[in-house]
Amino acid sequence: MLCLSDSIRYDDPAVQRLFRTIEAAPTLTQLILAVWPLARVLALHVVEHVLAERARRPTSWPPCPACGTGLRSKGFASRQMMSLFGPIQWRRRVGRCPRGCAIPQVAPLDAALGVQPHQQTSGEIQALGCALAVFVPFATAARLLGWYCGGVVSPRAVWCWVQAAGQQAMAHLQEDVDALARGDVPTPEPLTAELTALPLALGADGVMVPFRPEAGAPQGKIRWREIKVGVLARLSQHRTRTGQVVTRLAQRRLVAVLGDIERLTSRLWLEAVRQSILRAPQAVWLSDGGRGFWRLFDERFARQATGVLDFYHAAQHLWKAAAAWLDGRTTQARRWFTWARHRLRHGMPDGVLADLADALDVEGLPATARDTLTTVHAYLARHREHINYARYKEVGLPLGSGMVESACKWLIQQRFKGVGMRWSEDGFNHLLHLRLAWVNGRFEALFGLTLSPNQ
Ligand SMILES: [Zn+2]
Repeated sequence: MLCLSDSIRYDDPAVQRLFRTIEAAPTLTQLILAVWPLARVLALHVVEHVLAERARRPTSWPPCPACGTGLRSKGFASRQMMSLFGPIQWRRRVGRCPRGCAIPQVAPLDAALGVQPHQQTSGEIQALGCALAVFVPFATAARLLGWYCGGVVSPRAVWCWVQAAGQQAMAHLQEDVDALARGDVPTPEPLTAELTALPLALGADGVMVPFRPEAGAPQGKIRWREIKVGVLARLSQHRTRTGQVVTRLAQRRLVAVLGDIERLTSRLWLEAVRQSILRAPQAVWLSDGGRGFWRLFDERFARQATGVLDFYHAAQHLWKAAAAWLDGRTTQARRWFTWARHRLRHGMPDGVLADLADALDVEGLPATARDTLTTVHAYLARHREHINYARYKEVGLPLGSGMVESACKWLIQQRFKGVGMRWSEDGFNHLLHLRLAWVNGRFEALFGLTLSPNQ
């Protein structure tokens, strides 16, 4: 392709300095760090050489967007851009309308390279900056990127890339949600035969995030807002070294929304269709008692999935009833609780409900105890179809929603609830959608890149 020795001037004092630093590096780490700037110089020369070669090829001029006359070359003009190897410069032909229309100058080579008119950094550096920002604060992301490309990257620049990419991710999602609402079913994600045979678990939970009190003003009291998160995963059984069988989440996909439950519902349904809920051998909805999320289940998933009320949550309610009815300090209360919990777990929920109903019939029950018993009875009666734990265990479904809740919390907690953080609505949404793209394995596709060698 090219002869590097022609292209790099070894007598260049800057290159000479790099060689001297390499010679003088005593340790391996220092040696590698000293070679890195030279590697960047070599890389820049290769890139600039290829660009120069392409710029010399004949240009085909598009018509003027204003009058339609063929554009004409005005000669070469130089263009600069920050890349992963440092600043690149190239010269390419630019054209104008021969009739003098007031249009911006046109550079067909830039268009062929996928470079936007006002773009100052190339795509790979933006993608890497966004990937870092998914996990660490913008300032840290900027600093790491600066080390790598040997220049200064501002946190503000990383923030801007995140906003642009996040907006694009949100727009794609909205298109897909709208398409499904019109009846255009999305292409399901390819699954291995092994995963296809596993049950699909779904669930949702709310997580609070600190927001700025008003847009644009970082001062003032924090406003906490709920982010609704949904998770979908295949349940795989895994045997540990001690021989215990534990359930793990495979092919985990997350959805999230800063907004009402209807918007969560449409996103969760879209993802469920992508994860082939309609063809899953078994689907299960795992949740604690949160009312809004059970309404979501009733309206959207009750036909496809078995609803399971978190067993530990249900047991907690039983203890509340025992403590109110029989006084929590007594052996009698503990004994009834243990017995009720056992029956609930082993297929006799109706016996437990009957006990609670009997307790309510007792005359002279204090008003507070009556209130608690009524609440617990109503709660379990409302979830009567979601507390058949013996049957769930038999068919290999989990009884708890813990793993669903921890997946939901992890998505938000790890990045959005750092000390002193408070978000604007847009800033939060854009980063959230990049983080979703990352955890769902769609980050590279969003940037049109293949970064990992094995994908
Ligand atoms: Zn024109």
